[in-house]
Amino acid sequence: MKTAYEFAVVGIGGIGSGALYWLAREAGGEVLGLEQFAIGHDHGASQDHSRIIRLSYHAPEYTALTPETYRAWAEVEAESGVRIVTKCGGVDLAPDVAGEVLEQYAEAMRVKGIPYDDLTAAEAMERFPQFRLDPGSRVLYQAESGLCDPRKAIPTQVALARARGATVLDNTPVRRLVPTSDGAELHTDMGVFRARHVVVAADAWTNEVLRETGTRIPLTITQEQVTYFATPKLRDFAPDRFPIWIWHGPESFYGFPVYGEVATKAGLDVGGDVVTTATRTYEPNPRPYQKLVAFLERHIPGSLGPELYTKTCLYTMPPDRNFVIDRLPEYPQITVAQGAAHVFKFSSLVGKITAQLATTGATEYPIGAFTLIRPALTDPTYPAEFRVNLGSHAEAMAAQAV
Ligand SMILES: Cc1cc2nc3c(=O)[nH]c(=O)nc-3n(C[C@H](O)[C@H](O)[C@H](O)COP(=O)(O)OP(=O)(O)OC[C@H]3O[C@@H](n4cnc5c(N)ncnc54)[C@H](O)[C@@H]3O)c2cc1C
Repeated sequence: MKTAYEFAVVGIGGIGSGALYWLAREAGGEVLGLEQFAIGHDHGASQDHSRIIRLSYHAPEYTALTPETYRAWAEVEAESGVRIVTKCGGVDLAPDVAGEVLEQYAEAMRVKGIPYDDLTAAEAMERFPQFRLDPGSRVLYQAESGLCDPRKAIPTQVALARARGATVLDNTPVRRLVPTSDGAELHTDMGVFRARHVVVAADAWTNEVLRETGTRIPLTITQEQVTYFATPKLRDFAPDRFPIWIWHGPESFYGFPVYGEVATKAGLDVGGDVVTTATRTYEPNPRPYQKLVAFLERHIPGSLGPELYTKTCLYTMPPDRNFVIDRLPEYPQITVAQGAAHVFKFSSLVGKITAQLATTGATEYPIGAFTLIRPALTDPTYPAEFRVNLGSHAEAMAAQAV
């Protein structure tokens, strides 16, 4: 087997499969992808039938990129004939008109010229009678929102990369990544591979993979979950009648129309416990489940039905919950991409950005906010108010862990 490549990707989840695809467009047979588990496995973050995709975001650094995410997926869909994105519209909901968070979303869309409808509670319920909102609630509707499907996206990008000559080895963990004078060595149970440039897209395992590079990103991992509810009101919750939704209250909930299973799906954002890749379990957590059901009973009662199943998954987050997309300062032949537990929608685009960094050393996309040298990653005194809110339970656990 060929053991020396121009480019290697470690971790073939959402970002890694994107990196593989976009690198293969440039360099075909000079691309190697290594994944520790089977392609499409359930142990990391990119799994399940759906992840929210949207133009709407809380900050211009992201609304500068959201339209590009759709373009990246559209190219993958056009080349493969596989549908990955389903548009159903989306709503950001806040319980209070003065809600600062929603104003940030509105402003970030305005500065990038992204159209949206600013609705009162009554207007929103007229359009979507599935919601029960208190007077004073504010709702932003954006028509391009929808979901993208990891179960399709990852194997599709892998297949397209293979069609262009890339080598992809699953069940092949990289045990050591060792920088060298002309690239890096990737030590595996199948032997040592060499590459001139390596993209690390290992999410919860990022620091393990980077162990011998001297770079360590302060990352917190939590075990999160989503629940499928077998609503009897299928027609009301079909994607042509019901949008994806995000609730920006003191706690943030989110959900999907019926897709993938004959059931709605919803979850509580950052509702789980702090874990490591070794201590995580696959057991559903009753605490976020109960909070979720209480929220749905109050605000989207028709979406409920018997619990089909609850599925766990990992969130991996830097302190500011912003992406990391950068070349290592000490070893610019290694690019790292970490998606702060909200990257799936962007993952093909982030893969494209890493491919540009790997092939040319620069990217056409604005990623200045996502460097490795920002204070949130380098300053231990980075203020608590800017850090991700882990929720009272997870926060207490994190404090114990320190
Ligand atoms: C419940 C839940 C809901 C979410 N909802 C949304 C949403 O609605 N919208 C959205 O955009 N995002 C969402 N996210 C976040 C999103 O899913 C993740 O940010 C994204 O999937 C991360 O992709 P990734 O490629 O970085 O990581 P992963 O998909 O975890 O990929 C990392 C890969 O690296 C591999 N790897 C690690 N170490 C090694 C090694 N040593 N050798 C070889 N391979 C290795 C792993 O096995 C894994 O396959 C959600 C996440 C969760 C958990």
